[in-house]
Amino acid sequence: MTRVLAIGKYKEADAQALREEFDAVAIPTPAASATLDDTVRNRIEGVALMGHRPFGADELALLPKLRALSIYGVGFDAVDIAAARARGITVTNTPGVLSDDVADTAIGLWIAVARNFEEGTHLVRSADWAHRPPRLGFTITGRRTGIVGLGRIGREIANRLTGFRSEIHYLARSPKDTPGWTFHADILSLAHAVDDLFIATVGGAETRGMVGADVLAALGPGYVINIARGTVIDEAALIAALDNGPIRGAGLDVFQAEPHVDPCLARHPKVYPLPHIASATVETRARMGALQRSNLRALLAGDPPLTPVT
Ligand code: NAP
Repeated sequence: MTRVLAIGKYKEADAQALREEFDAVAIPTPAASATLDDTVRNRIEGVALMGHRPFGADELALLPKLRALSIYGVGFDAVDIAAARARGITVTNTPGVLSDDVADTAIGLWIAVARNFEEGTHLVRSADWAHRPPRLGFTITGRRTGIVGLGRIGREIANRLTGFRSEIHYLARSPKDTPGWTFHADILSLAHAVDDLFIATVGGAETRGMVGADVLAALGPGYVINIARGTVIDEAALIAALDNGPIRGAGLDVFQAEPHVDPCLARHPKVYPLPHIASATVETRARMGALQRSNLRALLAGDPPLTPVT
């Protein structure tokens, strides 16, 4: 009988791999463990988790034998790590393999929003181009950019920004070894120093609402790009700063209550929204699935995991 649950909406290749290797039983959400037969539920030792639905102490309590929780993705803000640790459950994620695609998406959003790509596309597709000239955008090359979180993804964003001759500033919990990028310990100091802000920090309680009205006012007439977590931005403050100034535009791959998006934000003419697809390429998703399964395989065999959440 199976020892593994596959939780979330996997694409068929990953779902099949989890079935074939682990005989995994598929359920849609962590809370859906409650619908399993007790004999199945009480044997589960490993979980392959995909998605952002909460996996807290209540959901963990449904799986008394759980010892391995392998996340598909880097962010672990949906999992109560302290509760898992208290139960002796090892949690892993899939860092690094997606950093390039996520950084590429950040740069794509930046260009798209500063150069009015969505409006331009609409002009061509609707044939309005014959009647209305396109609006002018703003030059992105040479701008001063700030990166909130210079981890794996933030560093890849910065590497790409050097190609745009950007003066790079960053915020992290500690200064990093960089080729001359400026460290800020305080988000207001960072916002004052730059034109545009890229958000690449972790989600969760520590960063909730970190980019609020004061930060947006300090930033001034620039762009906010978020590929991290929607919770890092105070969305009401962002809408106000887009409506009344000073923010020129926002490129957003993530939202506070996704997949439900505040319609003011979703339809805002200064926002270029994407449905959390920064890592969604065939190549990266294959690497994420393989790393998730490698971690689960190692943990179930009693071996050290490849990429534990520390
Ligand atoms: P990472 O390497 O762990 O980097 C996280 C960065 O955030 C580090 O620089 C860290 O600073 C900083 N940080 C952590 N806590 C902070 C705090 N309280 N205040 C300020 N900065 C803080 O993670 P990553 O691989 O780059 O991923 C970053 C995040 O991107 C993930 O957590 C995930 O939520 C998100 N993500 C989104 C997508 C998507 O599809 N849109 C895909 C993958 C990941 P220190 O280095 O000083 O500790």
